Amino acid sequence: MTLHFPFDNTYAALPQRFHARMAPTPVAAPRLLLLNDALARELRLDPDALRGADGVQVLAGNAVPEGADPLAQAYAGHQFGGWSPQLGDGRAILLGEIIDTEGRRRDLQLKGSGRTPFSRNGDGRAWLGPVLREYIVSEAMAAQGIPTTRALAATATGETVQRERGLPGAILARVAASHIRVGTFQFFAARGDTDALRLLTDHVIARHYPQADGPLGLLDAVIGAQATLLARWMGVGFIHGVMNTDNCGIAGETIDYGPCAFMDTYVPEQVFSSIDHYGRYAYNRQPEIAAWNLAQLATALLPIMSEDRDAAIAQAQEAVDGFAARFQSAYMAEFRAKLGIAPDSQDDSDLVLISDLMTLMAEERADFTNTFRALAESDASTAADPRDQFLDPSRFDAWRARWQARLAAENDPHTRMRATNPALIPRNHRIEQAIAAAVSGDLAPSERLVQALARPFDPAPGTADLRNPPLQSELVRQTFC
Ligand code: AMP
Ligand code: MG
Ligand code: MG
Repeated sequence: MTLHFPFDNTYAALPQRFHARMAPTPVAAPRLLLLNDALARELRLDPDALRGADGVQVLAGNAVPEGADPLAQAYAGHQFGGWSPQLGDGRAILLGEIIDTEGRRRDLQLKGSGRTPFSRNGDGRAWLGPVLREYIVSEAMAAQGIPTTRALAATATGETVQRERGLPGAILARVAASHIRVGTFQFFAARGDTDALRLLTDHVIARHYPQADGPLGLLDAVIGAQATLLARWMGVGFIHGVMNTDNCGIAGETIDYGPCAFMDTYVPEQVFSSIDHYGRYAYNRQPEIAAWNLAQLATALLPIMSEDRDAAIAQAQEAVDGFAARFQSAYMAEFRAKLGIAPDSQDDSDLVLISDLMTLMAEERADFTNTFRALAESDASTAADPRDQFLDPSRFDAWRARWQARLAAENDPHTRMRATNPALIPRNHRIEQAIAAAVSGDLAPSERLVQALARPFDPAPGTADLRNPPLQSELVRQTFC
């Protein structure tokens, strides 16, 4: 067993105003809760060594491994539309970057690792619940092929975190293409620091978008990545919950799993987050919010775009305006595939077919995931009947006749559908049950969820119960950070 972290750090080499260099704050009694062996190997880390005493010390922030350059990143952001000039990593420390087995540069960060100069009133800590939720949901997203940060480990701190009540503390070891956000650009733009904006732009282009030409090319690339990402979220009924500009990742990964959730019953205006009082980040508003966030990125990049300011504004505006069409095209590809239609089909009538189904699902209180999965499995005699998802099944029958007529032109649609429509999603009530069990010392439900959700399209035997929507008594109406 060797505990060696093959760090290759570049963010730490950026000037001092990009970050605050500091080590994580040690915790009382670290204990490893969950470890992602496959991801560890991808990062060229030895899972057994991580499980050992020295490994757990690192994952808890009690020891800084050789080659790390620990730091908290500076950033700003719009939170629920309101401007915060200084946010930054208030409870996270970037240990460094690792080039993985595929040659990709990945950040290794500890979240919940103590106060930093960016903590404001926060305690710098996380409690077990959100750490497990992020672990479970981010890994489920990854298994569904949706761009996301990853979870390497969850570690108990042995300390109590004060929230509404005293709760067990935990740390998430998070892996990301990077933790650079729209808010990172905003931080420097707000300070009129064009040198830093240029350095950050060069860093991001080299790291994520090597084909992009300058700030406008970067903007264009980020818009494309977000358009694709948002279509994926919409396609699985995912609600991010806090789409602030500081939670909008430049690399196009889903980042910051706070009060996020997958929908059960399809309600287009569904909100879960306990802090989202006006429904700003409701399911059906997510594309429009992404466009708003990208407009903030464009604004931040303006000072380093073309010297001709009017021309720069026109170009940036055009790029941002282009989001809607790019999202729409990604959305159509996503939902075509969900219905067994070739994603690149040019049949304009597909839009009506899709939106009629969505309207019907909303009016008939259908379960989002189970409806699409039942359609995907509807060629098998053993499958659940999609009709059962609709209060008035005759309305579904009329839609199904149109769908089947459309499918006549497609080759092997159900295979495509089974690879696109997950049978297993991290349902809220299951996560809450897993958290409750973990708080009382039983990790088995969390482990079971992680294991089952690793196979969303081809569920393992013995996981059928995880497909059930919540009973009325199990329903989770709100999620918390
Ligand atoms: P979020 O809503 O998770 O995106 O966090 C917004 C800001 O609050 C970021 O700057 C976080 O680092 C900071 N923050 C959240 N929770 C804490 C905490 N418990 N202690 C310190 N800072 C926090
Ligand atoms: Mg955040
Ligand atoms: Mg958060």
